[in-house]
Amino acid sequence: MDKKELRSYVRQQKKQFTPEQLIEKSLPIMQKLEQHPLFQKAATVMLYSSLPDEVFTHDFIKNWCSVKKIILPTVVGDDIIPVEMNAQTHLVVGDFDILEPESEPYEGGFDLIVVPGMAFDTQGNRLGRGKGYYDRFLCQYPDVPKIGICFDFQRVDAVPTEPTDIPMTEIIYG
Ligand code: ADP
Ligand code: MG
Repeated sequence: MDKKELRSYVRQQKKQFTPEQLIEKSLPIMQKLEQHPLFQKAATVMLYSSLPDEVFTHDFIKNWCSVKKIILPTVVGDDIIPVEMNAQTHLVVGDFDILEPESEPYEGGFDLIVVPGMAFDTQGNRLGRGKGYYDRFLCQYPDVPKIGICFDFQRVDAVPTEPTDIPMTEIIYG
């Protein structure tokens, strides 16, 4: 399957579940993340605010943003700009209907970046939605561990890659 076919395959798979079922499927995935040594030892974690068809992160962010420094992506033009999230941060609807923190860009480093995707393979390769946002963002952080999280049906044997695709350190799925 090429990238386009794989995206359409995953979209079909997602349709078998209601948004509520996907939230339910997300809980054990987020528990695995919480138990992962890379997460446990991280002080600063970049997460993402989930869309209805992605592994549900909203409660996780709420729970952890008073414990660790939680950074969320905002989309500005063709770029992901990281912004800090804390209990006082207001979330606003950004591009692609993503809930984004309304605050200044975060300019520090990360101990861990948690990455959404359309599909991941056994080698850690990642397929995104086709605009390369995360590839352009992640190439700035070659030394930061990256964990891809996804539903079981998004984990495939092989994702087609190009030189600009940034692989994950590990994939958590369920
Ligand atoms: P996605 O990662 O969202 O699935 P692709 O990997 O297909 O999307 O990338 C989308 C486009 O973005 C491709 O044309 C790719 O060449 C381009 N791209 C990705 N990363 C970079 C980069 N670091 N610099 C320039 N272009 C990039
Ligand atoms: Mg890519």
